Amino acid sequence: MTNPNDTYRHQGMRKKLVDELREKGIVDENVLGAMQRVPRHLFFDSAFLDRAYEDKAFPIGEGQTISQPYTVAYQSSLLNLKKGEKVLEIGTGSGYQAAVLFEMGAKVFSIERQRKLYEKTKPLLANIGYTGVKTFYGDGFEGLPTFAPFDKILITAGAAELPQKLLAQLKPGGIMVIPMGDNVQLMKRFTRLPDGGLAEETFDSFKFVPLLHGKVNGSKTQ
Ligand code: SAH
Repeated sequence: MTNPNDTYRHQGMRKKLVDELREKGIVDENVLGAMQRVPRHLFFDSAFLDRAYEDKAFPIGEGQTISQPYTVAYQSSLLNLKKGEKVLEIGTGSGYQAAVLFEMGAKVFSIERQRKLYEKTKPLLANIGYTGVKTFYGDGFEGLPTFAPFDKILITAGAAELPQKLLAQLKPGGIMVIPMGDNVQLMKRFTRLPDGGLAEETFDSFKFVPLLHGKVNGSKTQ
């Protein structure tokens, strides 16, 4: 995707970031290629452009953060994504992770519970060329029954409990990647087996903002 606000300087900074991710153990070329292409700085307010290519999380308002690039790469790798697959993301936030999944060739559906973030991110994604990413304002615990089932489900907030309704929206053979725990989270991968059972794998520990129930409409909680 080409964008006049994405300069050679930014592309060079991204190349360094992608090299850093390789050194930290990310090997999926589809993930690394997508992260080389998505202009992460366009998901930042202009005052903080220079922070966009550090391997760090960063505040995006409403007490939320854009995930650290390493975390985005790690979760995206665990999905074993194939082109054309339908992916549901819970926690749109800045829209960066959704754009990475889209660049990897997925059909992306993403839900955000904070109305302000939803209203900021939806036009941003469209303006920078990610018109194919479908964003929704709602409680991710409910998933998107109308568009289910999904090949993959990615949760980008720390879950204290396993969201059962989301598991029910997974195709046979489908994968859900979810960080689980209260203060720190262990990355988990659940695979829906052909006989209907679930396989569970546990990976490294991370720190996410919490996955919370309900929607937030400005100052009111619904
Ligand atoms: N994927 C985002 C990361 C944002 S942080 C990015 O790339 O920027 C996690 C986000 O999950 C926050 O915006 C938070 O508001 C949202 N969130 C938490 N619980 C949620 C829920 N139940 N449904 C939808 N979004 C939720």
